[in-house]
Amino acid sequence: MSVASHHLYVHVPFCRLVCAYCDFVTVGGRRAELPRYVDALLGEMSMRPARGELETVYFGGGTPSLLAASAVERVVQEARDRWRSVPVEVTLEANPSQREVPDWSGLRLAGVNRISLGLQSLRDAELRTLARGHTASEARRAYLAARSAGFDNVSIDLIYGIPGQSLADWRGGLRAAIALEPEHLSLYALQLALAPDEWAAPPRSGALRWRRRLAARQQDDLAADQYRLAEDLLDAVGYHHYELSSWARVGRESRHNAAYWARRAYTGIGAGAHSYDGEAIRSWNTGDLDRYLADVETGRQPVTGTERLSEPDRAFEAIALGLRRVEGTSRCAFAAEFGEDPVHRFAPAVEQGCANGLLEVDDDLLRLTPNGRLLANEALLGFLPEAGASRLSEPVREAAAAR
Ligand code: SF4
Repeated sequence: MSVASHHLYVHVPFCRLVCAYCDFVTVGGRRAELPRYVDALLGEMSMRPARGELETVYFGGGTPSLLAASAVERVVQEARDRWRSVPVEVTLEANPSQREVPDWSGLRLAGVNRISLGLQSLRDAELRTLARGHTASEARRAYLAARSAGFDNVSIDLIYGIPGQSLADWRGGLRAAIALEPEHLSLYALQLALAPDEWAAPPRSGALRWRRRLAARQQDDLAADQYRLAEDLLDAVGYHHYELSSWARVGRESRHNAAYWARRAYTGIGAGAHSYDGEAIRSWNTGDLDRYLADVETGRQPVTGTERLSEPDRAFEAIALGLRRVEGTSRCAFAAEFGEDPVHRFAPAVEQGCANGLLEVDDDLLRLTPNGRLLANEALLGFLPEAGASRLSEPVREAAAAR
């Protein structure tokens, strides 16, 4: 019998500056505590069961590139030892600011083989609007430094829907990004939630005012045009659009994120990290850094919540995450798990979605149409279970918030 794959997420909440639009669990100005935090990560890992075969490790944040390469190496080595397997993909998110340059070569030696670089934009005006702590030239330098250190699998993040960013600006930024020849691009619409849901960190007071000001200048139609333009441009130069926000050279899709969309089991360690057993149990750690450290240092698991998903919640998650994949979700696979073809089980939602041009059924696949990819929220509404919809996991929350 083959051993099920498993995935490890390591949350590193530290950032040099905390961005006003960010909903992740982050803390600014506490870098001196990084060594203590790394010890806590190792302590937490030792308390967790190591099930399955570890296929991927993902250092997300926050700013994991603030970690010393030796600290990353300790975490990767501990994961290998605990799971007795060597992960095929180890990703680390990095910030391109020249004020926090990571030891790229050291990270490679530590076992990292994929970099996700938070460029956000290659235009200074947009970076200023976002109040990011780096410039376009720093972004390029960071990218080239990662390449020079031998990283042959680099993903870059870009943001669209930025107030003041015209369609021509976005085209120019995208072309500049394509010229760098990354293996993978993740494109995100600027989200300026004014009332974030329960999973998001509450916005700081100044940040809320900033968000209101910017949100008033956002244009949904323009953001939709920018998304369509990205689809066309990236397709024309050979990137495979495999997930709502993700494009890759064939074979360079993110294996870690694909595991979320396929609802595989993962363990999340670190402040605010979530875990899922691949069946029905989900749990999450405290997002409070002090409490996290105190819990682990006194031998307590830092888990603050656990829930068992109901069958309707699991069925909804299967659809919501499956529809994130551009190729669509398999009706046979759904039927094998839930005992019924989703086209029958969710007949009103599927019929309505097809009639509105948001969904299509193509043999075994149920998928979003190009218009549906712009209005994924709307297409998913009819699939929501009546109860439990408010307690969706982070990956599902993202799906529900897509595009
Ligand atoms: S957007 Fe990135 S760098 Fe900015 S606060 Fe959030 S995690 Fe940190």
